[in-house]
Amino acid sequence: MALREVRVAGDPILTKLCRPLKEMTERMSVLIDDMFETMYDQEGVGLAAPQVGVLRRLFVIDVPDEDEDGNEIDEKHPIVFINPEILETRGEKTLAEGCLSIPNKVANVTRPEWVKIKAYDRDMQEFVMEADDMLARTILHEYDHLEGHIYSEMAEGPMWDIEDVEEDGDTGKVRLKTAKGPGRKSNRKKHRRRRL
Ligand SMILES: [Zn+2]
Repeated sequence: MALREVRVAGDPILTKLCRPLKEMTERMSVLIDDMFETMYDQEGVGLAAPQVGVLRRLFVIDVPDEDEDGNEIDEKHPIVFINPEILETRGEKTLAEGCLSIPNKVANVTRPEWVKIKAYDRDMQEFVMEADDMLARTILHEYDHLEGHIYSEMAEGPMWDIEDVEEDGDTGKVRLKTAKGPGRKSNRKKHRRRRL
């Protein structure tokens, strides 16, 4: 396995439509392994093939579970989506989002809160998955990459530097940090990086 270079916004490859995979090849299998390794290395929860310069309809995700206090549970849930097709979406939710292709930035994005998706796994077996919350958001964000879209196109308000924002523990949205007086306790949840 090897780390791949992650393309950043401004690279024209991120605006191109990706082509379906006809079959699983050794080359694609190596790509999938490399994408997981690159995603974990950069502490991301999702990575799409065009982000590593490959215009194929393929993305990988691993969205951590959280305990009751919102801390990530260190347990792997890698999932590969090949030739994905969004079957249905429901609802709407605004949450903080980031992207490995736009390093150290974050913004609020409104997306459906539930998704039903069909895709193929790395054995090219078809599966259907229903997802909500952060898993749905990650799937929809990565799917957009395959269509040549990046989340900054749909960001609400400015793209903020990740150091300048705090996350509202109740809504999951980000906002600019407010000045805190000395000794004032913050009950905000630890800001989680949402790098997709
Ligand atoms: Zn992204």
